[in-house]
This record gives sequence, C-alpha cells and structure tokens, in this order.
Amino acid sequence: MTDDRRITLATAYRTHTAGELRPADAGSEVTLAGWVHRRRDLGQLIFIDLRDRHGLTQVVIDATESPAAHEAASGVRNEFVLRVAGKVANRREGTENEKLSTGQIELRAESVEVLSTAETPPFPINDAKDAEEPLRLKYRYLDLRREQINRRMVVRSQLLRALSEVHHRHGFVEVETPLLIKSTPEGARDFIVPSRVQPGNIYALPQSPQQLKQLLMVAGFDRYFQIAHCMRDEDSRADRGPEFTQLDLEMSFVSQEDVMGFVEAMVTEVTRSVVPDRPIRATPFPRLSYREAIDRYGSDKPDVRFAMELHDLGEVVAGSGFGVFDSAIESGGRVFGMAVPGMGGASRSQTDELTEKAKRSGAKGLVHMSVGPEGAVTSPIAKFLGEGRAEQIVEAAGASAGDLVLIVADADIVAQEVLGELRAELGQRLGLVTDQDELSYLWVHSFPMYKWDADNKRWDATHNPFSGVYPEDEELLTTSSGDLLSASPTDPAGRARALQHDLVLNGWELGGGSIRIHRHDLLERSFLLQGHPVEAQRAKFGAVLDAFEYGAPPHGGIALGIDRWIALLTSQLNIREVQAFPKTGTGSDLMLGAPSPVEPAQLAELGLQLAPRPPSR
Ligand code: ASP
Repeated sequence: MTDDRRITLATAYRTHTAGELRPADAGSEVTLAGWVHRRRDLGQLIFIDLRDRHGLTQVVIDATESPAAHEAASGVRNEFVLRVAGKVANRREGTENEKLSTGQIELRAESVEVLSTAETPPFPINDAKDAEEPLRLKYRYLDLRREQINRRMVVRSQLLRALSEVHHRHGFVEVETPLLIKSTPEGARDFIVPSRVQPGNIYALPQSPQQLKQLLMVAGFDRYFQIAHCMRDEDSRADRGPEFTQLDLEMSFVSQEDVMGFVEAMVTEVTRSVVPDRPIRATPFPRLSYREAIDRYGSDKPDVRFAMELHDLGEVVAGSGFGVFDSAIESGGRVFGMAVPGMGGASRSQTDELTEKAKRSGAKGLVHMSVGPEGAVTSPIAKFLGEGRAEQIVEAAGASAGDLVLIVADADIVAQEVLGELRAELGQRLGLVTDQDELSYLWVHSFPMYKWDADNKRWDATHNPFSGVYPEDEELLTTSSGDLLSASPTDPAGRARALQHDLVLNGWELGGGSIRIHRHDLLERSFLLQGHPVEAQRAKFGAVLDAFEYGAPPHGGIALGIDRWIALLTSQLNIREVQAFPKTGTGSDLMLGAPSPVEPAQLAELGLQLAPRPPSR
C-alpha cells in the first residue's frame, strides 16, 4: 500500500507526502514539500509541522546539526511553502503523538528551501474553528486547504468515481450534453445567454438535460448517464443554489420497477463504498405513495427516522360544534393532529411561537391540547367541545400523558403540510433522531400528474412536463368540458397519477424521475392540459415531438442531486459546504467577483442595452 503511494506521489520536489512516513522509514533520506502548518522556535531548535493534503510531518531543524537549514527556517511563517530534505528519525520516547499517523517519527532537516512566502491568512488554516462564511468564500482556496472541507471534496471525488464505475459496469454510456440549449422547463427561471452571431436570439442554460436525454433514447442509447451541471435561476436555500450537479440517467425498454430497482441497487452500492461506516436504515428502501406520505408525515419528502406521525381526526371531530373544525369539514377540508412527545407542559409563549410558525406555513391557525401527567386534557378550545370529546381527540391523535397535541383544520394537503413542517422542526428540536449516522433512503411514488394553477386556469405538471401516466389513468387526461385547453379544477385530469418516483434521504429530496410519455398523441394531450396550444408546443418542444414520430422506445429515468447527496453523506446542513466554489445565498462568487458589469462594447456586440436601474432605496 505504502509502496504504491511512493511510486505514484513522488515528484521532482518530493520523495514522500507529509502523511506517510512511519518508524520503518527511520534512517532514510527523504524530501517533503508542503505548507508550514505550525512553527515553534526554541532558539537553537525550530519545530515545523509541514502539511500537505495527505497529513502532517514534524520537521526538526537543529542549528548545531544544520546551520544553513536553521538560517533558512528562521524567517518562515505559517503557510510558507517549503521543501525540506533530511533524515527520518524515531521520536524520543515520550514525545510521540498518538493522534497523528506520522506521530512516531520526525524529519531531522538537512536543508530547507523556501518555495513561496505567504501573508498572514485572513483566518487560521490550522484551526477547525469556523470563520465567517463571506470570508471563507472570498478566500475559498485557503478555506479548501483546511482538513475538514478538503476531506469532503475527497469524498465527493470518491462518489463521482464510484458512480462512473457502477454505471459503466451496468452498460451505461456517458454522454455529455451541451450547455447552450433551448429552455427545458423544470419549474424554475432560466439563465439565458444572448447570441452574438444571431443578434436578438438567446440560448438557455440547462435546468436539466431532460429533453436531450430523452432524445438519446430515441437515438438508441438504451442506458445513458451523465454528471450534469444544471442552472436554475431561483432563490437559494440550504439545499439549493443557482448552480448544481446532478447524476442524470435514462433507460429504454424499462418499467418503473426496472428504474427503481437499478437506482436502489446503485445507490446502496455507492453508499456502502463511499461511507462504509454509515448504516442504511432499511433495504429494500421503504416505499410510500404520495398520499400516504402526506397523510402520515405531512410531507412528500418525509424524514421517517422518527415517528411522531399525523392522524386524521376527521371522524372524531365530526359534529363537535367547534366552528373551525366544522367549517373545514363542511367545505371538503381535513382536520389532522399530531402528538408531540413530552411537550404537554409547553408554555403560552411556546404554543404562540408554534402558532406563528403554522401561520407562516399557510395555516389559518393552530389548535393545541395538553395532556397532563395524570392524563387530564386542557385546551383553549375545551369549552367549545362537548363532554369527553377532548379526550377522544387526544386519543385519536395517539397522545399519552405529558404530550402536546397540535391540530390543523384546513384544505386537504395544506392541513397535513403545515403539521409536516412543525413535525420536521420539532423532530430536530427535541432530538427525536437517535442515530445521526443512519441513512434513511425511501421512495415516494404515485404523485398526482398535475396541480391546479388557478392564476392561469390550467393543469401544471407536478414534476416534469414529460412524465408518464399510469396506464389505467390515461383516460383521465381530459377536462369536464372536453376542450383540453379550457380546464377547470374539477376536471378528471386532477385525479390522474404520474409514473413519478422521488428518492428521499433523511428528509431531503435527493432526486426524482419518471417513466416518460413516449407517444406523440399522448404527449400532445398532456401538453394541452398544461396550457400549451399545439403551435406553442411546437415552438417549445418541437424536437421531442418530432422525434416521437420516428420510433421512440418506452423510456424513463431519474436525476439525483450530487451536492445534496454529499452534504448528507458528510453530515453537512448546507450544500455550499460540499461545493468547491459555491455562490453566496444571493448568487455572488465572492472570490472571482461575479456577477459583474461588462464593457458597453460587449453589450453592443450582442445588440443589448441595459435599462436604467431603478434608484436604490
Ligand atoms: N429532469 C428531472 C430533474 O432534473 C429529472 C428526471 O425526471 O429525470 O429534476
């Protein structure tokens, strides 16, 4: 093992890396090159911890042994780049460092050469303590020198390598698709690039290679994959930025089971090889229908590492006489509740805070009931409920003594999702996830094909516009009026289920995909329901529609977010921690200084003029 490394990593500047010398090397003449991690000057003796990506080696520079080396080392400071030659020696007994892989030895310097000097860095490189993020992003090359983040980039590289290996082994062909394309809608705004040679015409940067990978299926590549860079002009969040990387794949002649089966085996294998110490909670991955995920967890990306499930209280509150419940049910809405363990003693300000949060998530209000240590139920709404009803409600919510029951009455989905957000937050706050190492993958399937867009009076695709429909639901792709372009919220189309599959990991959506529509007639019908008249379809999706006239195989695929995946595998809360050069939350590259103004001549060449900016307030 060590020998292999010596062969591959030795260069004109070094014989070894700073992480590999061991007692067996004592007596050898070696040369190391790296950065000054720490320096202690004891006069005659100077100690330098020399660092490279592979580790640290203690260098001892003794003025009596090597006066020239001592002279050269006396002016160096942290982060200088040195080349040190000398002899490996075992450390004196009692001075070994058990925490370092090289802690048994030291390098007695015979020569020290300064390859590069360094200013004092804006934050210490030799300290794991976190500096302010803007400073870390401005000096990202220094941040990346630090061990923790450097290690995450290595895990990322290992994941990419494992992905490439497993896909090639399973007969996938890696195809790169262009960055300058025509818009492929994935529900976000496009970044656009004006053409110089065709003034007035504009490319879109890919939100995903969706159409191209489907065209590759028509071209006969029955298994395609790509580590694809995607750009979506949307506001950043912890799990989302303007630029990201996804594992994109597509397969032909497959059922949904074939796609999910391959992806599950691939994800399991890659996880085990990249983070062998982290247990996968369940294989095969659990599967939840969208309806089950919403009704049990209030989310289409549930974290099932803890219970605290939602309960449908529709029956138990029916006819309770409490207006909020009654009117929700009369108008076709739902009443759901959830028992929060041990929070029965919550103070007024705690319940007020939860109510505020529920309102921010879109609820009109939040009802709470406390179960005392002896089981007595108290609630601000108790006086509106008849004898014994409060007790029935807390029982139906699955609460026991000492719990707090939270109830939301609202439209279907809204009620559950509000509780789902509270569940996610309280699950964290109360530390309900007992094993932080566990990786809980699960599938969510049977999503609705469409969601009603009240502003535009049309059916929008819930995922991507090419998603297929369950064969038995195909006849539902219609409107009550019969005219597909004149839709209404009660159309049969609202009940159609998509052949969509999302992969969830620890409460984050890792990715999603589907079996696609591969028939021209059906795709045209689905696009009409989505509000695209035939001419508009031709302008937007002409290539795919044409291609489907030339023999399209049944096909489907998925895309998984690489940044999210690495963040979860390395226990990070923000994807910026696993991207080498991320943008800030407002889309700036603080290191390169992008985005930035361009020369007027460059704009003129593109036939562009900037509108005057509104005065800043
Ligand atoms: N194109 C989809 C996305 O980027 C994934 C897919 O359906 O394969 O989310």
